[in-house]
Amino acid sequence: MAKINSNYGHLAANYLFPEISGRVAAYQAQHPNVRILRLGIGDTTEPLTAAVLDGIRTRVDQLSRRDTYRGYGDSEGELALRRAIVDSYAERGASIEPDEVFVSDGAKPDSGNIQSIFSPDAIVAVQDPAYPVYVDTNVIAGRAGRFDPATGGHDRIVYMPCTEENLFFPAIPKQKVDLVYLCSPNNPTGMAASREQLEGFVHYARQERAVIIYDAAYAAFIRDPALPRSIYEIEGARECAIEIQSLSKSAGFTGVRLGWSVVPKSLVVEDGGPGALTRLWSRRQNTFFNGASNLAQAGALAALGPEGRAESRKVVDYYLDNAALVRRTLTEMGMVCFGGLNAPYVWARVPRTMKSWDFFDLLLEQAHVVGTPGSGFGPSGEGYFRLSAFGHREDIQLAVDSIRTNLKLG
Ligand SMILES: *Cc1c(COP(=O)(O)O)cnc(C)c1O
Repeated sequence: MAKINSNYGHLAANYLFPEISGRVAAYQAQHPNVRILRLGIGDTTEPLTAAVLDGIRTRVDQLSRRDTYRGYGDSEGELALRRAIVDSYAERGASIEPDEVFVSDGAKPDSGNIQSIFSPDAIVAVQDPAYPVYVDTNVIAGRAGRFDPATGGHDRIVYMPCTEENLFFPAIPKQKVDLVYLCSPNNPTGMAASREQLEGFVHYARQERAVIIYDAAYAAFIRDPALPRSIYEIEGARECAIEIQSLSKSAGFTGVRLGWSVVPKSLVVEDGGPGALTRLWSRRQNTFFNGASNLAQAGALAALGPEGRAESRKVVDYYLDNAALVRRTLTEMGMVCFGGLNAPYVWARVPRTMKSWDFFDLLLEQAHVVGTPGSGFGPSGEGYFRLSAFGHREDIQLAVDSIRTNLKLG
């Protein structure tokens, strides 16, 4: 008789997005004439740029003709694209090679799948709050232990609190851990790690032979020139870090689907010398994955070209202006805000008398604006609230006007 993977039973009952939809639907049903403004979702809204569309259309034409049609490609990704990725790192002084780049269908699948090349008993550390994929995929793989409703966490996961005291970047773990997930700029806090902060983790990882899994999905939003955009800008990171990237947020590829992982050959682990992890990830991808869509890869190659990059930068600037508008409005109203300067998320402290969900209800009822309660991203997110800047300007403007006029902070 077949049995299910019982690890699924250890997943936290994270009803964050269904709970949000439920509350919004209930409110809308009671107030059918109210226009609800959604600043809750981390999804892009501006269209693909001209260069990207050109790249995809050209490939569509090639696929339409017998003499230029191509089917399966390299499962690691087209060489031209991997070279373009390598060049984009080289500009930042980060040295990687094409055979260390693995093109994929996105950063979420990669950040979920990467754990499979590590030992089932690896100790995992995560930022708290964080993107839920890192913990949940380790739960499914059996590394997380039980969920404890009292702490809001799993008993075998090492949670690294990101709080106002440490400006939302965690302290180095006191105990020995094997895998460290870092995301910068972070979702949900919108805060980007400094060079010194990353140096601390790289130092720790090299000492412990731990591996950092660095999610740089929001790197394109970094505008402060002093902040690193890739962990490979940090000396020694090639020996201890895997970086995961995506065009989802930087070029509007959330639906097109294109990301990549960099797994350097110089990575070393306790029982594997240089090249071991690169070979395992290659094996993993060749076994489970047949390569990213060739249309998506054509779009990606265009996005990484000079025109594509200039266009994407404008779109990212547009979202950053939205974020600045949200941040300015809340700050002028006396709320304490973080993030939103080098990221598309503003992380607001809710009034001290409230919990994240209380503020969700207040904002919905008074201002008709939907955001995301911080507590949904981990125990340390309680007392905070995420507002997303991925909207059309006119909707963001309506939302901030409504917040300014209607929200009574008591
Ligand atoms: C949106 C997001 C991604 C992107 O995932 P894709 O699968 O490439 O769309 C990755 N990491 C974080 C933290 C994100 O918020």
